[in-house]
Amino acid sequence: MRALVFAGERRLEWQERAALTVQGDLEAIVRPIASTTCDLDRRILTGRSPFAPPFDIGHECAAEVLAIGDKVRKVKPGDVVVVPWHVACGICRACVGGLPAHCEAMGRLSGYGVPIAGDWGGLFSEEVRVPFADGMLVPVPDGLDPVAVASASDNLTDAYIGVRRGLAKHPGARVLVVAGVESLGLFAADHALAAGAEGVDYVDADARRRSVAEGLGARVFAGLDPGFDRRYRVVIGASRDPADLKAALMALAPGGHCSNLTMFFGDTLMPLWEMYLRDVTFSIGLPSVAPHIPAVLNLARCGHIHPERLVQVIDWNDACEGLLEPHLKPVMVRPRLLA
Ligand SMILES: [Zn+2]
Ligand SMILES: [Zn+2]
Repeated sequence: MRALVFAGERRLEWQERAALTVQGDLEAIVRPIASTTCDLDRRILTGRSPFAPPFDIGHECAAEVLAIGDKVRKVKPGDVVVVPWHVACGICRACVGGLPAHCEAMGRLSGYGVPIAGDWGGLFSEEVRVPFADGMLVPVPDGLDPVAVASASDNLTDAYIGVRRGLAKHPGARVLVVAGVESLGLFAADHALAAGAEGVDYVDADARRRSVAEGLGARVFAGLDPGFDRRYRVVIGASRDPADLKAALMALAPGGHCSNLTMFFGDTLMPLWEMYLRDVTFSIGLPSVAPHIPAVLNLARCGHIHPERLVQVIDWNDACEGLLEPHLKPVMVRPRLLA
């Protein structure tokens, strides 16, 4: 099998590796069939992350199950599944408590395709080891195109979690999305409308993404104007620019909630006095996606969310070039083996 390796700024390389075999009762070996870039990968590929090459890249995919260990019950060879970005047992206190990204069985942050989370390989590789198949893998329902939901491994579900945090406190509120990355802001806008928000105001300097947001039903703005100040009970931060984060927080109404979906790789100033005056809540964190993937897949199956609108399909064998194109969600696709 081949593994796709991030070799340096704008450089991806296939490397030959030994085929994987099942080594434990709880494991599965899966074969990604639709893999896509996380917004973080876009930063990594263009040399704008702190992560030094080389490493196996990719942590969003749908895959077919190739082989399973003797004690795996939830999936069987030939099933199509979403593979969560994090590696987790599914039964420890952290996993049962809803935080599988912090699984106690792994002893440390553990996941695919990023050199901060162990060494499990990447989901752009042709075979992947899943150490806890029943605790991790989520079957894709019949009738749902795995290409559309490859991002349920991370970004698509991350946006669902962030939107729910705000709208659970303020059902039906109008939502402000302050966007500056490829997919998280658009996914958040889509989830907010599906969750019954009165409407979504989507702010993004990028005209192409504004056009997609408009198609999803959002009101779009190229920048934040002073009229946004203190207006929103639910705000989504989806930009890596600290100035955008500040503007998003200043848009909070008293009692409001801001969920920030992007990573800041260092200390970042926040307008704490203005936040204090508004009595607001701020949430940010590594997304524990596995428990939420079934709900996200159902929303897609029923047509309540539209992740396929961000997808640009590229051939598996063209990944080294295709993943570098400025697509919103380039999905590298290949045929199933066991269908
Ligand atoms: Zn990610
Ligand atoms: Zn666990």
